[in-house]
Amino acid sequence: MDGHTDILIIGGGMAGLSAATALASTGARVIVLDKGRGPGGRMAARRVEIAGEQVSFDHGAQFFTARDPDFREIVAGWEQAGVAARWPAAGDEAWVGTPGMNACVKHMASALDVRWNVRAAHLRRDGTLWRVETGEQVFTAATMLVAVPAEQAAVLLADAAPDFAARATSVISAPCWAVMAGFAEAIADAPDTFRSDTGPVSWAARNSAKPGRSGAESWVIHASPARSRELIDLPKDEVARILLADLFAAIGTAPAVPQHLDAHRWLYAQPEVRKGEGPVYDTDRNIGIAGDWLHSPRVEGAWLSGRALADAVLQERLASTS
Ligand SMILES: Cc1cc2nc3c(=O)[nH]c(=O)nc-3n(C[C@H](O)[C@H](O)[C@H](O)COP(=O)(O)OP(=O)(O)OC[C@H]3O[C@@H](n4cnc5c(N)ncnc54)[C@H](O)[C@@H]3O)c2cc1C
Repeated sequence: MDGHTDILIIGGGMAGLSAATALASTGARVIVLDKGRGPGGRMAARRVEIAGEQVSFDHGAQFFTARDPDFREIVAGWEQAGVAARWPAAGDEAWVGTPGMNACVKHMASALDVRWNVRAAHLRRDGTLWRVETGEQVFTAATMLVAVPAEQAAVLLADAAPDFAARATSVISAPCWAVMAGFAEAIADAPDTFRSDTGPVSWAARNSAKPGRSGAESWVIHASPARSRELIDLPKDEVARILLADLFAAIGTAPAVPQHLDAHRWLYAQPEVRKGEGPVYDTDRNIGIAGDWLHSPRVEGAWLSGRALADAVLQERLASTS
């Protein structure tokens, strides 16, 4: 089935959905394509069954801030809708999605036309339209917005918008190995969160202590960029064992045997954002880019980047009709 729309957005993470929400609220027809099986992007949550119980792990972003007044307003709405809550253990300004980190993205997506499991493979200009091939389907749109990690944007935009692709190519993202560990009993004498700027484990948290979670004791461990690079090509089971040992050594707790142990490798976890970056919209070709790599490497930065790109599109539309 082919699809034509007014605005097509590739990438349904926080940046893409922030842009989609703002644009759809003006009555524009917006379709979002995302290759993921479900909502989240890097605000992912993974559900697993451990000893007959459903347990959810936030293996990507751990919490987010809401400092910008517009974003605060959005987060207040999420809190009211029951999809976000404060998490004081991570700091006075920390929020999490509830019951999983992906809940906010899921909530945004529920009001939009998002096509999951659809990977944009190739895009090109076709007369005055943009044409996106996804394998089985072709989508066309007057306006095309790309909100995917820099390294993936560089590939996707190489032929269609080499100037944007060059910008994306210059960004380097740090990888992150994330370990998910479930235990039959609580890990005693351990704080709910652990951070280090120098050790092999940069962050660990008792996932089950976040608000709105249920189920057995669960932990998420993030390796530092250096440790992640060191282990980058090892099998995930081996990485999981190494990082669990790293955690116990770091917090000085006797090792416990997990009931569940898994790992996920984020190749492009957090980008190094250059000063002066911002979302870009080309008004001649009606193509734009957004994402955390064009603002700051955080959930809030992704939302702000998407919103700013939507504002640029709306400004152009207003100018062209006046
Ligand atoms: C391990 C880890 C820890 C983090 N910790 C924190 C934290 O504690 N606090 C914080 O604020 N931030 C944290 N972040 C960063 C935060 O998750 C990101 O900044 C934010 O989620 C980025 O949103 P985005 O929309 O720019 O990108 P993404 O969330 O990456 O969304 C991009 C979307 O594009 C889709 N996509 C990619 N290519 C294609 C294609 N060809 N076709 C269709 N779809 C495509 C992907 O499936 C994805 O859903 C962390 C990230 C990671 C990975």
